[in-house]
Amino acid sequence: MADTIFTRIIKGEIPSHKVYEDAHVFAFLDIAPLSPGHTLVVPKEPAATLDALSDEASAAIGRVLPRICRAVMKETGATAYNILQNNGAEAHQAVFHVHFHVIPKHGASGLGIGWKPQRLDAAAGRDLADRLAAAIGS
Ligand code: 5GP
Repeated sequence: MADTIFTRIIKGEIPSHKVYEDAHVFAFLDIAPLSPGHTLVVPKEPAATLDALSDEASAAIGRVLPRICRAVMKETGATAYNILQNNGAEAHQAVFHVHFHVIPKHGASGLGIGWKPQRLDAAAGRDLADRLAAAIGS
């Protein structure tokens, strides 16, 4: 399969404003930021969606993501931010290489969210939670 644009950025074939790199993770500024400081945190492993990512790469992201968030907050002065992680075209994923958006909230700029909550039915919720727990396993 052809390299994604993010693999090419990680390899240095396409320039980026890099903010962090270790053996498993690469982070850089989004080319079309929703707000100043909008950063993409990307595992070097080229999984298309989060469910396909290895435990090792997931752990590496988890280890560094809060540190990157702290730096973005400190250097942009933002006191709030969103983490966005899209999986699948229907969920607005455009680049099919796992990535976490760190999006500072500066007044009106940042991530806008359309949140339309539904009611959780108690019996259906219990059944679904049981099935999910069994599917997740240990
Ligand atoms: P998605 O919709 O897949 O979650 O978001 C992909 C993000 O990658 C977008 O916010 C887009 O601006 C960013 N992006 C796409 N191509 C490039 C690029 O070549 N360089 C950088 N720095 N960001 C990119």
